[in-house]
Amino acid sequence: VFLEIALPQSEFVALAETVAGDLGFLALLAVVLALATGTYLAWHIAQPITALAETTTRVAGGDFTNTPLAARSDEIGLLDRNFQDMIQSLKTERDLKESRMRELKTLFEISNAVNFLTDSEELLKFILSQSVEIFEAERGSIMLLDDQTDELVVKVATGGRYRVLSSSPVKLGHGICGLAAREGTGKIANDGFRNREFRDFGSLVPVEDIQSLMCSPLKFKEGTIGVINIVNRRNGGQFAESDLALLNLIASQAAVTIENNKLYELSITDGMTKLFVHRYFLARISEELLRARRYSLRLSLIMIDIDNFKKFNDTYGHQTGDLVLQRVAQAIRDTVRTGIDISCRYGGEEMAIILPETRSDEAFRTAERVRESIGQLQISHTSGTLRVTVSIGVASYPGDAHDRDSLITAADKAMYYSKRSGKNCSTLSSQIPE
Ligand code: GH3
Ligand code: MG
Ligand code: MG
Repeated sequence: VFLEIALPQSEFVALAETVAGDLGFLALLAVVLALATGTYLAWHIAQPITALAETTTRVAGGDFTNTPLAARSDEIGLLDRNFQDMIQSLKTERDLKESRMRELKTLFEISNAVNFLTDSEELLKFILSQSVEIFEAERGSIMLLDDQTDELVVKVATGGRYRVLSSSPVKLGHGICGLAAREGTGKIANDGFRNREFRDFGSLVPVEDIQSLMCSPLKFKEGTIGVINIVNRRNGGQFAESDLALLNLIASQAAVTIENNKLYELSITDGMTKLFVHRYFLARISEELLRARRYSLRLSLIMIDIDNFKKFNDTYGHQTGDLVLQRVAQAIRDTVRTGIDISCRYGGEEMAIILPETRSDEAFRTAERVRESIGQLQISHTSGTLRVTVSIGVASYPGDAHDRDSLITAADKAMYYSKRSGKNCSTLSSQIPE
């Protein structure tokens, strides 16, 4: 079927031109619309999605900093809000994990400290500084119980802005720390000195400066051996129950560490003279020799023997002899370098001092100072003031000997040379005539 339209040519051309004009307009309209849609999509959809994608990449890399998109009520807004919640809970979880790790690390370091800190004061300082740090506190103290007097005595304190913190001993049951120790339970006082259990113990810190406080007993077996006090959370913060739970954990770990250290110190210390025992002397001199060899250092050894001690005992009795021994040991400890030189009871009335990183001439000067301070001792006795003298020998590594036993023998020989030379003098191993 055909439909034939007959148009004059002029009309047909006019119609064709109109149609072409309309089509051109429509094409232009389509391009403008496409551009507008593209821009809209780019601004409102593609850009926020790119921003979200970039944030996911950052979060996946562990960086939780991010800025939420501008508020909007469509699906992208919902996606962004859900995304913010997710980041927040990831962040909370990460912070929690980090603080648990810190807590575990602190507990581990405290239990491990006994292996590298043999000095009990150093050990207490370490435990305290770790605790003050983990609770973000200003300062703290550790008090130990004196079983003779039943009083808590401050052993170490970190000062914050105060340099001296000493306070008088605290009776068990007095104040917050005394109560914590007596009851065997930790206590929090976020009202600090205003707490009704708070007592002023005459500390040099003004009481008004105690804003918040946590005290936890150091419990060992059935008893309490002391208390750890954490004072003032930084920036005026408060301590939470979870903080106290952690402090209790730290305190029980610390108590075991402190007791172990006490046992260790007992085992290496001679009860009468408070000098190190022979076994410890042998271990330390071997250790120091190894160190000296490895780092090319000098090492000196001083041997001391009390002159005519048998006669002393015979004349004044063994007890007086013991007293003399204690005073001589005290004079030695007071003369040598604390924490560096190692004073030992070699046996009977013979004593030895290990002097790390010390040349023989320096060791000889120390020996002479020791001899003089012993010579100046005045020991009271019913029959008058007693005096005592010692003979000393000094030997050094590597000049006089290369191993432990020959170093001890060299110092011993020098000491006997002093005896033969009339006693009350010091001899350097290298100066003994052949
Ligand atoms: P020297 O000047 O030659 O050293 O004469 P000395 O009498 O001191 O002789 P020696 O060093 O051999 O004597 C050791 C004496 O020290 C023997 C012992 O009775 C005494 N002694 C050893 N240990 C102790 C102790 O712990 N207490 C007491 N009171 N005496 C002790
Ligand atoms: Mg002797
Ligand atoms: Mg003697």
